[in-house]
Amino acid sequence: MIIRKKFRFEGAHIVRNCTSQRCRENIHGHSYEVEVFLKSNNLDNGYMVMDFVLLNNVREFIQSFDHAFTLWNMEDDEVKRSIYTINTRVAEVPVSPSAEGYALLFFFVINLIINNVSLVNGEKNVRLHAVRVHETQSGYAESSVEDLELVKFTMNDVKLNDGIKKEWKDRSWWNLIGGF
Ligand SMILES: [Zn+2]
Repeated sequence: MIIRKKFRFEGAHIVRNCTSQRCRENIHGHSYEVEVFLKSNNLDNGYMVMDFVLLNNVREFIQSFDHAFTLWNMEDDEVKRSIYTINTRVAEVPVSPSAEGYALLFFFVINLIINNVSLVNGEKNVRLHAVRVHETQSGYAESSVEDLELVKFTMNDVKLNDGIKKEWKDRSWWNLIGGF
């Protein structure tokens, strides 16, 4: 059975090398919707795949991008310096922040989170099935396990700055998945 939980964030980016000039030459923002799909062949004691309460760390991770600038680590140093100067919330990531880049990054990180969730009520074989990132009302990108072949980075390359982390209730889940 598959269940889905939807999250939202308001994020800013610039997408270099994008075909559209508006997109590649201007810092701008979107109201993102992120759908997280979980799958299991088992139902827990409450007849659920998994209670959404157990997705608190997933929520915390996605909220890290809210009112933050998502900065591709391939940006030139001058741009990076300006971004860090004018923003207190910066998510520096190893993918270009297109919807596809977000979907791949989110699948990679949320997969690690799901694999480390403490199961408390008879949940079994719960795995991340897909992550769908809607950048606009009409378009989304979806990532699933076969896309992990596209991953050329590790958790060391996902740098959420202190402006983001200081708002977290705790950081233990981040450390557990190899974040720093
Ligand atoms: Zn955009």
